[in-house]
Amino acid sequence: MRVPVISPSEIQSRLEHILPLVRKPGRYTGGELNQVVKDWAKIKTRVALVFPDIYDLGMSNLGLAILYDLINHREDILAERVYSPWLDMEASLRSSGTPLYSLESKHPLVDFDIIGFSLPYETLYTNTLNVLDLGGVPVLSAERNTGHPLVIAGGHAAYNPEPMHAFIDAFVIGEGEEVIQEIIGVYQTWKSSGKDRKDLLRSLAGIWGVYIPSLYEAQYHPDGTFSHMEKLDEAAQLPVVKRIVARLPPPVTHLIVPYIDTVHNRIPIEIMRGCTRGCRFCHAGMITRPVRERPVQEVVEAIEQALEKTGFEEVGLLSLSSSDYTNILELVNAVSQRFKGKHLSISLPSLRIESFSVDLMDALVDTRRGGFTLAPEAATERMREIINKPVSTAQLLETARAIFSRGWSTIKLYFMIGHPSETLEDVQAIIDLCKAVLAEGRKLIGNRAQVNAGVSTFVPKPHTPFQWVPCDTVDQIRAKQGLLKRQLRGAGLKLTWNNPEDTLLEAWLSRGDRRMAEVIYQAWKHGAKFDAWNEQFSYELWIQAFQIAGLDPTFYTHRERPIDETFPWEHISTSVRKKFLTEDYLWSLRGKTRVDCRERCFACGILPTFADMRRANPGEVWQCPEVKNKRIPVHEILSGENLPVLQS
Ligand code: SF4
Repeated sequence: MRVPVISPSEIQSRLEHILPLVRKPGRYTGGELNQVVKDWAKIKTRVALVFPDIYDLGMSNLGLAILYDLINHREDILAERVYSPWLDMEASLRSSGTPLYSLESKHPLVDFDIIGFSLPYETLYTNTLNVLDLGGVPVLSAERNTGHPLVIAGGHAAYNPEPMHAFIDAFVIGEGEEVIQEIIGVYQTWKSSGKDRKDLLRSLAGIWGVYIPSLYEAQYHPDGTFSHMEKLDEAAQLPVVKRIVARLPPPVTHLIVPYIDTVHNRIPIEIMRGCTRGCRFCHAGMITRPVRERPVQEVVEAIEQALEKTGFEEVGLLSLSSSDYTNILELVNAVSQRFKGKHLSISLPSLRIESFSVDLMDALVDTRRGGFTLAPEAATERMREIINKPVSTAQLLETARAIFSRGWSTIKLYFMIGHPSETLEDVQAIIDLCKAVLAEGRKLIGNRAQVNAGVSTFVPKPHTPFQWVPCDTVDQIRAKQGLLKRQLRGAGLKLTWNNPEDTLLEAWLSRGDRRMAEVIYQAWKHGAKFDAWNEQFSYELWIQAFQIAGLDPTFYTHRERPIDETFPWEHISTSVRKKFLTEDYLWSLRGKTRVDCRERCFACGILPTFADMRRANPGEVWQCPEVKNKRIPVHEILSGENLPVLQS
């Protein structure tokens, strides 16, 4: 979209005509409690933080809330928010020639110095292109010149940046709290130097955790598989090692309070980052290591401050596995005591399947007794060993009994179909297990007992032990879902599932290479957007895009990769070594499990890479063992040589 030069006041005046005609105009106005508006004339660097889906979803994105707070604390820079407009608003913007703008100041996106996208999942890719286009920014990185904004992106999906390499100037691999300041610093120096855009990109490449795709070229074997990544410039790092913070900075408490309902109207407090459980399907669990915790007192104080500043009535104590937080009982007791009688609902998601989890939820005052969620992920013990989530069926039923007997009437059970080596017997076991849990509930609370089964389909993710495995075909998924739909029905039972085609899109994009960028571009050109929304996603359109790009979609999804295949994301290092992932995959084929790595360190690669950081942060801040000896160069770590000695 070509945008004319247009002032914020002109945009504001056009909105007065546009907003009465669109649904939920509160998505597009800004002006909420705690938003930060600065005087553009006094600011050196302006950053647009973009969540490429609607406001209702984007306002709950914790990563952007953290960056918004951090950036706006500095006097010389500002951060403003941009979200995807829904279809009706997009039509109005396009028909009136109005560019997409920031909520705070109504400046067009193209006016910003830096545009930062949050990409937590792959189905936001076409929306990313659409936001750039609506904002008047060239969609292709190669078409941007020195006067255009720098387009950066981070988030979990950025750990395989290759499908989006053509659209993003710089990817942040890993945690953004510190690196964003360095990126802005480099940008400011470059801006005052008057040098060209290539010079900016080369300087950014020197920052730990920043990946500049245009400084590399992908090479392929004649059979189409990936060969290696070649550096085109000496400034390019190879590999690009992820960024982490040694200690989690204090939680954000100055949160923006929306006027309209959003998906989570609550205070999000991250109590812990990382996970030591080692579930083999779990992308987040592998890429966010090591585990770092926040002190109990800091969490309690943050809740107190956030309540004062926002008036929210719910707090989410967030992590990948909340019951693994070292002082979880102390935390729950402290929160319960401190906020007793304040009608504050506390959610504690991601609890392990054990009676202790029920004790924890029970201890939380004012907690709603709607549904209690457990995620066994698979229904047979064999399958749970393959995915490394070993919990016995007896333990699961015992936990279910504890839940029903403590006053909850509904248990939500989350499963995945499509795990490696799964058969229809394993799917039948999901049905049997749900019915067994319901039967336990009926014994205790009669017909009030309810079991809601959420069954999604497994998508193999890069950087995990399952990165080699094929994804189920549409026919396989339909056969498994058919069985579930036929038998998981009746009083007290409810089933939800994903469309098989949605799963395939995620699978194509997750393990895509650079050639996938053309597919994304063609899909968007032909109308794809809001692919994460069932009613908007068009499978046919994506198949057509694959045809235009001359690529076979099954190459990315249904092919079992040989154990020695080089992956298109290997130049991005999570610091969990491929050797560890390979061994874990081979263990899974034998049904061999690993214990929680806090009990026994498996030398996954995290500690050698971040040995200096660990040494500088002794004690229980990290859940990895302490390190005795000296730092080892990254190239030795990645080859598995000279690993340091760990204290037992
Ligand atoms: S270094 Fe050891 S303890 Fe730390 S995440 Fe890796 S396996 Fe777990």
